[in-house]
Amino acid sequence: MEDDNIILETIDVAKWFPLFERGVIRKKLVGYIKAVDGVSIKLPRGKTIGLVGESGCGKTTLSRLIVRLIEPTRGKIIFDGIDITSLSASKMRRLRKRMQLVFQDPYGSLNPRWSVEEIISEGLKVHFHMSPKERHDRVIELLKVVGLEPYHALRYPHEFSGGQRQRIGIARALAVEPELLVLDEPVSALDVAVQAQILNLLMDIKKQFKLTYIFVAHDLSVVYHISDIVMVMYLGKIVEIAPVEEFLKHPLHPYSEALISAIPIPDYGVEKHRIILPGDVPSPVNPPSGCRFRTRCPYAEEKCAKEEPQLIEERKGHMVACHFPLKETKVADWFKKYAEAKGIVI
Ligand code: SF4
Repeated sequence: MEDDNIILETIDVAKWFPLFERGVIRKKLVGYIKAVDGVSIKLPRGKTIGLVGESGCGKTTLSRLIVRLIEPTRGKIIFDGIDITSLSASKMRRLRKRMQLVFQDPYGSLNPRWSVEEIISEGLKVHFHMSPKERHDRVIELLKVVGLEPYHALRYPHEFSGGQRQRIGIARALAVEPELLVLDEPVSALDVAVQAQILNLLMDIKKQFKLTYIFVAHDLSVVYHISDIVMVMYLGKIVEIAPVEEFLKHPLHPYSEALISAIPIPDYGVEKHRIILPGDVPSPVNPPSGCRFRTRCPYAEEKCAKEEPQLIEERKGHMVACHFPLKETKVADWFKKYAEAKGIVI
């Protein structure tokens, strides 16, 4: 892929949070929570990249690192050719308008004491020289873009439903004209019917403003509908990246196979192979040796405990970190039949 088509690259990015034990006199450092531990990825411009993994796998930490809301412990983050890990605070402030984060919780992410107009125009005040009238007009325009009414500008967050608040959050992110939107589980706190509306809105906006999305989710049920590329994360590492059709037809990592098998589908007369992984995700303080997935992997062998698998291109455009990538999977058959029955092209 041409480098000018890459909007974001991470090189061996890690975030370790120190873990302290309270002593009699002072706190003692007893280890690190390795939330993100060596992620190297290249994300193409103009695509929707679905970042999937169970709770606690590090995907929220990675999304905050990408927009530099938190500082990495090591590694580099390159946005549109600029190494943002070494940028000064003032240069980072100017660049931040090009990358915005939409939070999961539409209830907690809006200041309850500010009107919608104040919330949306905050970024406009920081990043653009505009008169109050120009700012007001822009707020009204943005409200219309996200499907709200001009009179909503005068209201306060508590006067809105969850879906409407998420629309306000999206308008706030759009106000500064970003190129990359990191959407951290933007619909998981919403009712199913409202989820569909917000997803449609996000897809319309992406086309209209030519955005790149990183869409973070804890399962594949939403992601496979809207993503161009799926990126699977497990215990601080990326274990598989592939275009969505390729990913669904030929999952190569055993963890991805289990995630696909968990996509809820109605009964289409297709025999379903649900793979239930044993146990919980191990602690990121002491991850297993070798492959981090080996304690739950149905295909683990001796080598898996000794050597850490690297993320390599196994098929064209399809990367996986596994010593024994899947050759075939019943899950792919099952998903193919389901897709045929439903008329989904995969
Ligand atoms: Fe399973 Fe081994 Fe592959 Fe890890 S490297 S996913 S343990 S087969």
